[in-house]
Formats: sequence, C-alpha cells, structure tokens
Amino acid sequence: MTGQPPRPRSHRPRRSRLVLVVLALGALAALVAVAVVVVPLVRPPGPRPLFQLPVACGETWQLGTYPGHDDYDVDLFPIEGEAWGRPVLASYGGRVTEAGVNGSVGGRTPEDPEGPRGRGGGYWVKIDHGGRWETQYLHLLEPPMVEVGQRVEQGEQIGKVGSTGNSGAPHLHYEQRRGWEKVEAHFDGVPSGITHDDTEYTVRRTSNNCGG
Ligand SMILES: [Zn+2]
Repeated sequence: MTGQPPRPRSHRPRRSRLVLVVLALGALAALVAVAVVVVPLVRPPGPRPLFQLPVACGETWQLGTYPGHDDYDVDLFPIEGEAWGRPVLASYGGRVTEAGVNGSVGGRTPEDPEGPRGRGGGYWVKIDHGGRWETQYLHLLEPPMVEVGQRVEQGEQIGKVGSTGNSGAPHLHYEQRRGWEKVEAHFDGVPSGITHDDTEYTVRRTSNNCGG
C-alpha cells in the first residue's frame, strides 16, 4: 500500500471515454468555425466608405443602366474620347479578392471591336473594402493589373477599360455591394440615382478620384 486512498474505479470503459473526447473536440471545432466564419457574415455592415468614381480624376463619364441589365448595376462610358484602354481605378482602398476571368474573355479588342462576344464579366476585379463593403469592375481589356490578396489604395489603377465577357461595346461595368446585396452606387457621397433596370437611365458625373 502507498497510503493513497484507492482510486475509484471508473465504470466507463476506456473506449467510450475516447468517443467523448472526440465528440468534445468536434463540438469545439464547430464552435470555432461558427465564430470565425459565421459571425463575420451576420455582423451588421460598417458605414459606407467614401467611394469615388472608378475613373481618372477630373474626367466626366456617363453612368447608365437599361432594361435587362440588373438593379443597381452601373455602366460607365466616357463622354469624350475612346473608352478602350482608359484607366480603371479602385473606388476606395481595400484588398483584392478576385482578379482574373469571370465567364470567358471572348475576342473583342480595339482591333476587332465586333469580334466574338465572351460570357459573363470577362477580365474582372473585386475589392473588399472592409465592413462588408465590396466593389467590382467588369469587362476589362487585359488581365487585371492587381493580384488576389493585394492591398490597393483609393485611386490606384487596377486595369483598363475593355469589352471582354458579355459586352456590346467597350465600357466599364461597376457595382457596389453591402453584405449579401448590391446597393445604389454612391460617388463622392452622392447617390448615383441608379436603383433599378426598369427603364433606361443615364447621368453624368465628374470623377473626384484624385488621390490623397
Ligand atoms: Zn453592365
């Protein structure tokens, strides 16, 4: 005898204790998954960032939509000069979450503007601005000038205007998203007025995306 009180004998076989440990670890992992994945998704969005037009400082562009587009989607065309190759700028600082091909590129280029039409957005970029706000930029001429994971500043060039994907003519298709949904695009704190695609609608705005 060692003088220690005898240890009570467990009535649980060893094997079922192992099962309990595995179950407990599984429950813990599920809780961590909920905390890490679900909580940020259901968290209320942060305040609207001060987005700027995704085109060069001082330039005036026509913003528009048409039936069959989609609610809140904005198409941008310059009111002067060619659209092809014009710089596309980040509306606001953030982190790139998509930079590549959406659908297919197709064959529409400055040399062959009526070439075969692609599908979807063509070359595109999506930026996460934090607070569950995102912007996306479609139909770029060439592969994006940024990479997934890269940090971009407001006004930084991310690509060039083109006509890749399902695009009739060179232009920039642009969206602002809050949480799960598209919302009316605001530029420089002013709503665009583009809220639905029931009727054709255009408005002219001058870019104040002029850097710090
Ligand atoms: Zn569009």
